[in-house]
Amino acid sequence: MTHFIDGQLVNAGEPATVFDPSNGVPVADITLGGADEVQRAVDAARTAFGEWSRATPAERSGVLAGFARALEERSGEFAALESQQAGKPIRLTTEFDVPGTIDNTAFFAGAARNLEGKATGEYSGAHTSSIRREPVGVVGSVAPWNYPLQMAAWKMLPAVAAGNTIVLKPAEITPLTTVLFAQVAHESGLPAGVFNVVTGTGPDAGSSLLRHPDVDMVSFTGSTRVGRTVLEAAATTAKRVHLELGGKAPFVVFDDADLEAAIHGAVAGSLINSGQDCTAATRAIVHRSVYDDFVAGVADLMGKVVLGPTADDATDLGPLISAAHRDKVAGMVDRARSYARVVTGGVIPGGALSAGHYYSPTLVADADPASEIVKDEIFGPVLAAMPFDSDDEAIALANDTVYGLAASVWTKDVYRALRGTEQIRAGCVWVNDHISIISEMPHGGMKQSGFGKDMSTYSFDDYTVVKHVMFDRTGTAQRDWHRTILRNP
Ligand code: NAD
Repeated sequence: MTHFIDGQLVNAGEPATVFDPSNGVPVADITLGGADEVQRAVDAARTAFGEWSRATPAERSGVLAGFARALEERSGEFAALESQQAGKPIRLTTEFDVPGTIDNTAFFAGAARNLEGKATGEYSGAHTSSIRREPVGVVGSVAPWNYPLQMAAWKMLPAVAAGNTIVLKPAEITPLTTVLFAQVAHESGLPAGVFNVVTGTGPDAGSSLLRHPDVDMVSFTGSTRVGRTVLEAAATTAKRVHLELGGKAPFVVFDDADLEAAIHGAVAGSLINSGQDCTAATRAIVHRSVYDDFVAGVADLMGKVVLGPTADDATDLGPLISAAHRDKVAGMVDRARSYARVVTGGVIPGGALSAGHYYSPTLVADADPASEIVKDEIFGPVLAAMPFDSDDEAIALANDTVYGLAASVWTKDVYRALRGTEQIRAGCVWVNDHISIISEMPHGGMKQSGFGKDMSTYSFDDYTVVKHVMFDRTGTAQRDWHRTILRNP
């Protein structure tokens, strides 16, 4: 299994192997493409754009509805493959990644018939104005490895529902479910060339795609560092840009919060997907009066999390994506020992787990807000906790980051909750929860977490162009406004 171009599986490029991060066992052989495969895929997408962009909303909707049913039928296959290539516990892929993707697909089947705009009207009196919402064209997308299937879905569905065609490059280490996703879409009736996948590395296939002159829009999910290079690449032909970048979500616990709920929320919210989640809770900012109880409660609950083989339904926490990434996470925690307190975790498990890239759930307390563990994205099962004394200080700490993707506030006071949701600069603020997402609501960042929305009908603002069409309704040769240039007509 490798590229999916113009409705067909294609083998081309450098041979490579996808490994299971939980045990190092090979999962599949693939090929990594480059500029040639990107060219073929962009050509196919350009050719397919003509007909697909003219398909009626009902036709596009019908294809996506059939696609959602096919995904449902093959959900077990997707869950197993996603678990193997990304090292996710099977419970996570079965209960979150795959059903989330099916629901997204069903949502966009409906949303395809709901492109909205301002009402047609005689705004000047002398004209009739109307709005057309048109697809942007060929979209070039690049996705990360942490949620390979969901990221492919978040990129492909709004684009295709709105009449665009797409070439998607998944992360080179986790391409398998994206290729299968494209294959099943085609088998469900999506015409050849509408959704193409090129597997390859970022600097090769990724860069070729983002710089391709016949790509009208680039949509990127990944790190803020690479996101900046995407902006530069897009500038060469002034492409429309959609960026979903890194995060460092604050988790603010006020003194009146339900502490039991906050402790459970912090453990689940920081450890989901082994912490490799751009919205994961990473900075627990906790009122001093409940800080010690919070730290003790989180440490206790983290100690109950079960690490194990990803195929085992009893496993809570899987490995990190690679040895290099695990070592980066461990290095950050090790450096934190000199300036903060590692309350629990901070260990690379041995024994049967040593064949995978596991890292134990980790709580670091009392870190300085300016320290590396608080400032930088870790992308591992690590939560840093720090105390605050006043509400203003809590909000200031929450906002003390270059990122602005997600945040949560924990309180029973409705006015505190309102202030938190207003004053924390993030694309999503939860009240008394963290992580939950839903197809109807947008996901996207502020500040250096990027711009543009995934999911929801708001994503159509990114994947469509609003065109103003203006009809003269006077039928006269000389119009009132001509007086500005023709004084004596
Ligand atoms: P990454 O930026 O290293 O890579 C993302 C993708 O970009 C991969 O497909 C990679 O091959 C490609 N790439 C790398 N260099 C490139 C280049 N020069 N030109 C073109 N493409 C290039 O990120 P990652 O490590 O795969 O994923 C983790 C990051 O993604 C984290 O920072 C995380 O916060 C972020 N993320 C954000 C969201 C969101 O919705 N905001 C969602 C998931 C992940």
